[in-house]
Amino acid sequence: MSFNKINDIPLYIGGEFVASASGEMFENINPFTNEVINSVASGNSADIDRAVQAAKEAFHNGPWGTMKTAERLRYIERIAALIDANVEEIAYLESVDTGLPISQTRKMIARSAENFRFYAAMVRARLVGEAYQQDDEFINYTVYQPLGVVGLITPWNAPFMLETWKVAPALATGNTVVLKPAELSPLTAHKLAQLIDEAGLPKGVFNVVHGFGETAGAALVAHPDVAAISFTGETTTGSIIMKNAADTMKRTSMELGGKSPLIVFDDADFDRALDAAVWGIFSFNGERCTANSRVFVHRSIQQRFEKALKERVANIRIGDPLDARTQVGPLIHQDHWKKVTGYISLAAEEGCEVYSGRVPDELNRGNFVAPTLLLGAKNEMRVCQEEIFGPVMAVIAFDSEEEVIRMANDVKYGLAAYIWTNDVKKAHRVAQAMESGMVWVNAQNVRDLRIPFGGMKASGIGREGGHYAFEFYTEPKVIHVAIGDHHIPQFGK
Ligand code: NAD
Repeated sequence: MSFNKINDIPLYIGGEFVASASGEMFENINPFTNEVINSVASGNSADIDRAVQAAKEAFHNGPWGTMKTAERLRYIERIAALIDANVEEIAYLESVDTGLPISQTRKMIARSAENFRFYAAMVRARLVGEAYQQDDEFINYTVYQPLGVVGLITPWNAPFMLETWKVAPALATGNTVVLKPAELSPLTAHKLAQLIDEAGLPKGVFNVVHGFGETAGAALVAHPDVAAISFTGETTTGSIIMKNAADTMKRTSMELGGKSPLIVFDDADFDRALDAAVWGIFSFNGERCTANSRVFVHRSIQQRFEKALKERVANIRIGDPLDARTQVGPLIHQDHWKKVTGYISLAAEEGCEVYSGRVPDELNRGNFVAPTLLLGAKNEMRVCQEEIFGPVMAVIAFDSEEEVIRMANDVKYGLAAYIWTNDVKKAHRVAQAMESGMVWVNAQNVRDLRIPFGGMKASGIGREGGHYAFEFYTEPKVIHVAIGDHHIPQFGK
């Protein structure tokens, strides 16, 4: 695989690739080598303001706001086709930037094209109002109108996938967008800007301002002309954004952290549960919001399951993210490496048996953490309560259904849960008892784009996906029309 040199990255504002107002740049680091990949324009409030004004102009006076839906959706489909045509290059950039294995980024990027095609189809089929007839007096009907300028703030763990997940419904429903991608993974957001530029969208409909959360991100949240903020990232950041958004009465959508349980009952299909548990935590380098970071195993099969987990962990292929055989690559950044390895040390202090695979010596320049099991863990330990966001799985034994439900729910997060049992009644009972936005039964995390995606408790507010995204990206307006002469009080007559 070889692509051209990766150039420095500008901002994309009003259909132009431009330097930041301050002229400042920041360095973007390769997690595999810890060398500088390139430099990135660092946006601040002046750039955000410029981008918001461009997006506002495109919404109100550009053709986007008045364009026929069919024409708008053709642009959305064009973006999908351009992503399809560039999957290899985007996957390469994503792997260089994040350390995610190329075999996994290829699938994510293909899926990202699907996000655009899906929302073109959804808007066509499902962005529909309703009519309410009130006898012979009124007809009331609803229309779903775009909000205007929406701000999208995204994390580094699956950047292109998560950006397109927001950009597709935002644009398809007729909004204009300012995207603030994560500072640790700017490459594919820039590529998206290039593809959208190539698709010929009117100037200002889509804008990208790179930069840091506390400057560019915070300015986007504070901007009075931004109608809504869709955010994916850490729970603590989400909380700050909600507070800051309150000053300008913005709508917010929050997709936040997780500490999801996977429960293996004694009657489960052992081998499939094992495959799912291993994939669910060690794919995407463990930097996955829905990762099954807490695995609860029935005590009667605990020894056998732990032995099988150890065999798997010892054999997972750790390596260069650009090698198609690699299963686990380096973590995004040295600071994150310190956080994750700090939790592994803590696990030993808290009394876990720590069992890790081995990072080959030749990989010592990268931010590698070998797949790690925390055996003999207890749910109340910090390593079972806090999001580690790396390839680290805590294994906790349980005796009864009641006990495992209590432990699975005894955590501040509530994003996903996975249940493995062949008892159909138990499967539904436990699924319904889970305090989480999404539950998979006898399944790994296979995502149907039509479902509501999101969490409860500290994992989020609101849902993305399917027609649920319409509730966020549009304003349901009702129009009341008198069709007869209803009673109007005659004050002062
Ligand atoms: P983060 O919260 O550190 O950063 C996310 C984004 O917010 C970045 O673009 C950052 O620059 C920006 N930001 C930071 N401070 C800000 C501020 N004060 N105002 C505005 N913007 C600000 O998250 P991260 O480390 O990039 O991502 C990992 C987290 O994301 C994990 O907790 C993970 O579980 C979560 N996540 C959740 C989902 C989901 O769907 N629920 C999906 C993926 C990741």
